[in-house]
Amino acid sequence: METNKPVDYYKVLHSERKASDEELKRNYQRLALLIHPDKAGHGHEEKFYLLQKAWSILKDPVSRKHYDAELACYENDQLLLYDTISLTEMGYDASEGVYTYQCRCNGVYYLKASELSSNEVNIGCNECSFSIQVNIRR
Ligand SMILES: [Zn+2]
Repeated sequence: METNKPVDYYKVLHSERKASDEELKRNYQRLALLIHPDKAGHGHEEKFYLLQKAWSILKDPVSRKHYDAELACYENDQLLLYDTISLTEMGYDASEGVYTYQCRCNGVYYLKASELSSNEVNIGCNECSFSIQVNIRR
């Protein structure tokens, strides 16, 4: 799991995970000035590129949310709702009687056919701390 860990864009922006949009923007602007290749000179292009990349993802609330979810998937620090899907999106293993759905971390969500009593059910990934909500309307 370590190998696929995403780059920590918050670190790139010298910011806390909970930083507000304003703080992120301030830090981005300060760093952009500091390591701009025109000013900082040769050798900073890569850093500057990474900074642009980090900012392009974190400045947008939607992509930031997706990114946060991706980060959390690798950090196991809290249980997060990764996705809401319908039962028809899951694969079905008839011999085992289980529905399966692949997690972003390459782990798997398992749902036994015998557990399909209610309209929706939350199941956790077998590898990370994500869970998904499955809507069971047929
Ligand atoms: Zn997972």
